[in-house]
Amino acid sequence: MPGAATLLRDVFGFDAFRPGQEDIVTAVARGENVLAIMPTGGGKSLCFQLPALLRDGVTVVISPLIALMRDQVRALREAGVEAGALTSGNTEEETAAVWEALEAGRLKLLYIAPERLAAGSAMGMLRRIGVSLIAVDEAHCVSQWGHDFRPDYLRIGELRRALDVPLAAFTATADAETQVEIVEKLFDGQPPQSFLRGFDRPNIHLAFAPKDSPRKQIMDFAAARKGQSGIVYCGTRARTESLATALRQSGHNACHYHGGMEPQDRRDVETRFNTDDGLIVVATVAFGMGVDKPDIRWVAHADLPKSIEAYYQEIGRAGRDGAPAETLTLFGPDDIRLRRAQIDEGLAPPERRMADHGRLNALLGLAEALECRRATLLRYFGETATPCGNCDLCDTPPETFDGTLAVRKALSAILRTEERFGAGHLIDILTGNETDKVRDRGHDSLPTFGVGRDLDRRTWQGVFRQMMGHDLVRPDPERHGALRMTDRARPILRDEDSITLRRDTLVSKSQRPAAKA
Ligand code: ADP
Ligand code: ZN
Repeated sequence: MPGAATLLRDVFGFDAFRPGQEDIVTAVARGENVLAIMPTGGGKSLCFQLPALLRDGVTVVISPLIALMRDQVRALREAGVEAGALTSGNTEEETAAVWEALEAGRLKLLYIAPERLAAGSAMGMLRRIGVSLIAVDEAHCVSQWGHDFRPDYLRIGELRRALDVPLAAFTATADAETQVEIVEKLFDGQPPQSFLRGFDRPNIHLAFAPKDSPRKQIMDFAAARKGQSGIVYCGTRARTESLATALRQSGHNACHYHGGMEPQDRRDVETRFNTDDGLIVVATVAFGMGVDKPDIRWVAHADLPKSIEAYYQEIGRAGRDGAPAETLTLFGPDDIRLRRAQIDEGLAPPERRMADHGRLNALLGLAEALECRRATLLRYFGETATPCGNCDLCDTPPETFDGTLAVRKALSAILRTEERFGAGHLIDILTGNETDKVRDRGHDSLPTFGVGRDLDRRTWQGVFRQMMGHDLVRPDPERHGALRMTDRARPILRDEDSITLRRDTLVSKSQRPAAKA
């Protein structure tokens, strides 16, 4: 849907759709009647807010929760969208302002409490103002047998008939009887387009690996899948070109793709990818929106994606045909530093930056997970899940150790050097490595000097990366490479909390046999 991706980014501040959102947004924007079942926290509101902006006229949103309506209206206004609510919680001025915006034809979203529908005047008003879509949140409230029954919800069907516009109903309640009731009461028994699927893509194997020798890791992964169609996502345009060249030199059919290329060249790559068998496209995230090749057998990330949503969307391009597909995501401290810096240096308001850090944390949590990746991923999107048997952690459970003491030593090294140094120097101090820098700064006389000799340098690197992954330390935006402690680390420093870390294995994930299509 043209414009949807731009609005997603510019108005809502998200870099990718969450599972399910894109298909629902497309259907609702096209004017289909829709019933969507999404878990709580899955991101329902975007599924009617974004289409509201793509459609002419006003979208009426019916929701039973006044506080929630007010929150959404406030957030939309902050994002520059004309939205208003008519609820019993309004002051007279608020109501007057909503009416004025409606009469002037400025309002895009009108939130309205169901009891308002009972007043005869509301129906007349809604007829006049040019409603183009009705969105119903918590649609299960129409079910007489459910515990959330709201008699006023029964008027929604009448409203739809009177206005003769499409209706999109949302709920997190998935049982079949409720669905039947929703279709009956809201859609007069005419089945809407339904989105009831779970978000899991069980045929996609999930794997992460710390960056060790990234080029080799990607080359090995591709070599084990020679002749299969795949995508390698890279963080920079330059890297797409150099990796594509390296792949060609190893005898692969590979080309690069990024936003800096001429439109015609980009279209050529898209066409070749769709028609050629076994082409590898090495690309930035610019590649993907227009790609609907069902038999992409693998997706690799040479660099860490931006967020857990971006990760899901990108790996989700593999295996649309349902046959086995493989993924590998590489990550390292430099990726974390880069992603944090991109958020900190962005122009987004503080709350949005905080949310972006949160979404990055979620992805890092997935990268450093100790148990089933799929279960971790699905939990983030609100679904419950059991160990999947089709991810690297189910294949080989990671070796773990109690990292509390190691983390405390590292934190104390950070604090004793006044949060002014990066992991390399801190590891020199911990392992008692007398470099010139250590001697020049007198760090060989710190009490922490040499207290970490029990672990080797490589293990310490893993400890520091995991500390970044758990958001115990963050790169200092002002001082390149330096690490600062976050509030999350305090309980560990004070011995009030413990932490389990994984021992990085040296077995390359790429040695897994390739998926058989
Ligand atoms: P619910 O499905 O429970 O109504 P919401 O619409 O309130 O969920 O969304 C839950 C959270 O997910 C919100 O914090 C929202 O900002 C976030 N969210 C929704 N869509 C996306 C997206 N595409 N990328 C990142 N975060 C998103
Ligand atoms: Zn698993």
